Amino acid sequence: MEKELQEELYDTIVIGAGPGGMTAALYASRSDLKTLILERGVPGGQLINTAEIENYSGFRSIEGPELATKMYEGATAFGAEYSFGDVQEIIDGPDYKQVVTSDKIYKTRTVVIATGSENRKLNVQGEDDLRGRGVSYCAVCDGAFFRDRPLVVIGGGDSAVEEGTYLTQFASEVTIIHRRDELRAQKILQDRAFANDKVNFIWDSVVEEIQGENKVDSLRIRNVKTNEVSEISAEGAFIYVGLIPNTEEFESLGITDDEGWIITDEQMETAVPGIFAIGDVRQTVLRQVATAVGDGSIAGDQIYKYIEAHKTEKAALAE
Ligand code: FAD
Ligand code: NAP
Repeated sequence: MEKELQEELYDTIVIGAGPGGMTAALYASRSDLKTLILERGVPGGQLINTAEIENYSGFRSIEGPELATKMYEGATAFGAEYSFGDVQEIIDGPDYKQVVTSDKIYKTRTVVIATGSENRKLNVQGEDDLRGRGVSYCAVCDGAFFRDRPLVVIGGGDSAVEEGTYLTQFASEVTIIHRRDELRAQKILQDRAFANDKVNFIWDSVVEEIQGENKVDSLRIRNVKTNEVSEISAEGAFIYVGLIPNTEEFESLGITDDEGWIITDEQMETAVPGIFAIGDVRQTVLRQVATAVGDGSIAGDQIYKYIEAHKTEKAALAE
């Protein structure tokens, strides 16, 4: 398909409307920069898949989709434009950069990559075939389908433990299968899961197959210490085994580490001048709403400084 070249030159294009991208757009547009947010899904990013957030300062507790709506209102309140766009490439150039989507090409002075990450797959037999038929990566989306049914959750991090506990409001019981005998999740989440009568744990075990004809009915698991293989009955399998960065589209820029996370400096700028990266997509020590918002505010501020510095540079060269 012929891509439509857009006439406007933006000061910044923010790719991804999660908490990070929406904050960067708020800061940039509030500094009077011509700002466009491009999002291939809906505004909110991972917030849309999160039932409750109780570690974002200022809110005792807030549902993810509600926080997403508030952030979207903030992001667009100072004139930032919002548009659907599945970004496929960024092309760096001497005068401006091009952001290429599936059907359009945009021109911009700076880019903020805020594309976050996706759930990592378990890569076991049955996972793809039974996806949407018992296999899920989103408790908020699919939990209610499993009223009074037994469920398993795979993983030992914050997501597995928090979402596993959340699922007990629907399920008859939730069994968390973890490959080690120690959880990675925050202590408060562990304490809640241990105190919940409906949550059981199977330790030191990996899933080898998710089984069922047309829907999940059991899982074959192997104890990694004894090699013993057993089966567990379950009607749903919720997989939370970590994240992979959404950076495939930016590989050619050479700004990622070996695992695909984007490397930035403290100003959130990548090795390519004028291209910034924020939030979960960044190589960082903590991936949270608060850190994505913090990164977004730094990038929004730095973009203004970057553009001002380049105006001065160009004026000096023209003299
Ligand atoms: P994301 O929220 O991932 O947003 C990225 C956006 O970019 C998405 O909307 C995506 O569609 C878009 N995108 C990706 N690629 C492209 C492309 N090529 N073109 C256009 N758009 C693109 N954190 C907390 O602080 N508290 C919690 O309680 C909490 N609970 C969580 C529960 C779960 C189940 C999960 C998975 C995460 C949770 N987190 C929590 C983590 C938190 O959600 C993330 O740290 C945060 O959403 C990261 O924000 P982000 O803006 O960097 O990326
Ligand atoms: P994570 O922290 O990377 O944890 C992934 C878990 O899956 C780990 O326990 C890991 O085991 C296990 N695992 C990985 N690959 C596996 C495999 N192939 N087979 C079996 N198990 C496997 O991922 P996450 O829990 O999705 O969290 C992602 C980010 O979101 C984190 O930064 C987290 O803090 C954040 N988050 C925050 C909250 C909150 O603040 N309330 C809630 C959810 C998520 P090992 O432990 O052995 O490595």
